[in-house]
Amino acid sequence: MTEQNGRNVEPCQDLQETWSEICETLRAEIGEASYQSWIKPMRLIGKNGSAVRTGVPTRFMREWIQAHYQDRLSELLDGRGVSGGLDVVIHQEHAPSARPETKPAEARKEDAAPAGPVNGTGIGNGPHADDIGAPLDQRYTFDRFVVGKPNEFAYAAARRVAEAEVVPFNPLFLYGGVGLGKTHLMHAIAWHLRKTRPDRSVIYLSAEKFMYRFVRALREHNTVDFKEQFRSVDVLMVDDVQFISGKESTQEEFFHTFNALVDQGRQIVISADKSPNDLEGMEERLISRLNCGLVADIHATTYELRLGILQAKGEHMGVEVPLKVMEFLAHKITSNVRELEGALNRVVAHHQLVGRDITLETSQDVLHDLLKASERRVTIEEIQKRVSTHFNIRVSDMHSARRARSVARPRQVAMYLSKQLTSRSLPEIGRKFGGRDHTTVMHAVKKVEELREQDSSFNEDVELLRRMLEG
Ligand code: ADP
Ligand code: MG
Repeated sequence: MTEQNGRNVEPCQDLQETWSEICETLRAEIGEASYQSWIKPMRLIGKNGSAVRTGVPTRFMREWIQAHYQDRLSELLDGRGVSGGLDVVIHQEHAPSARPETKPAEARKEDAAPAGPVNGTGIGNGPHADDIGAPLDQRYTFDRFVVGKPNEFAYAAARRVAEAEVVPFNPLFLYGGVGLGKTHLMHAIAWHLRKTRPDRSVIYLSAEKFMYRFVRALREHNTVDFKEQFRSVDVLMVDDVQFISGKESTQEEFFHTFNALVDQGRQIVISADKSPNDLEGMEERLISRLNCGLVADIHATTYELRLGILQAKGEHMGVEVPLKVMEFLAHKITSNVRELEGALNRVVAHHQLVGRDITLETSQDVLHDLLKASERRVTIEEIQKRVSTHFNIRVSDMHSARRARSVARPRQVAMYLSKQLTSRSLPEIGRKFGGRDHTTVMHAVKKVEELREQDSSFNEDVELLRRMLEG
């Protein structure tokens, strides 16, 4: 696997300079965090034929760089007269000095620090002051979970796992749309076990965090510790497992962790936004493993459930909310429970701050923008205009054939937002972007998704645009 090469020539001074320059250019493009994680550890080795050869310490890094940065790096080299492309090899002699930011002893100390926010850790975002798991939300307990038709099965399954003496099914796979209570149920299992079985070690974390920890372990050559930590737990809960779609190495590691735990009779609970069979970019063997236990879905909320949740929440807040207002909210805010809670919180906060009674009128007033947003339909034209302004390009470039990155990237963002915010199909979207093919739109969506994961400043840009368009 390692492509060690004895016949490397020392990179000449010119090439070294060119390399440093293009790294700086890329740094500006992808942001500091991604740069520190992926580009900085790359070492220029020399020429391999006409290609520029670089080295990285692990296979994982090589794959990542190949998937995300190789094309751009080649392009940049090309732009400086170095054609012939770039190759990336695994470089064993990658000295620790190549990654001066890594200080294993200190890193390990950080592990003992109090847990950080659930999803707050990003690759390369400096010190990871987190424990192996993520902290639990106080409010996410069984007794605060309102049970109705859409979620009764998932609820019963979760309770079963929490109360069982022997593992009843493995894994418990919970799935459903965003904001429908998956995380709530997982935390509830953990809280229950913490109270009734404090001897058991229960770990809850997001799949995203699992991956970050894995990547970090790889970079710090710490995978033994990593494996040990995960393989010695009694109950492992991994939230939003769709996050590792298409991430092969992480899936592989997850698969092994999974098997090791199942073999030892430990409980695993997984959540995702889709059923195992519908998860794209997942290895077959992992899918079949995920299907092995009990698969329980949470359906979209019904009016009754929404009303029930509002009532329970109102009681908890100790505020008298008129039934009329709750009915109104349950009718209007149908997307998910999180939004519903948000709406109620706003109504109550307004009441407490301003001191006016909660009525239908004040509620409509307070939620004016929210209700408007849920009724309003953003058009592709609006998206194109907004995105063009944001990136400082002409709207006509949304339709043009120009392929320069400075216009292609914004165009991809606009396609992505069109997919997210309108109900238009891929071919329809393609037509609105100068008659492009639906596969181009699909590619754009995927690309933007990747970049969002990888580059926090880009992610913020897109998120900002999305909010502006929705609001
Ligand atoms: P998911 O993980 O499925 O995206 P969450 O578990 O984060 O959703 O739920 C979103 C919010 O809605 C949380 O604040 C949660 O407490 C609340 N919620 C969801 N379902 C229910 C329910 N059945 N009863 C009470 N609160 C709920
Ligand atoms: Mg969740």
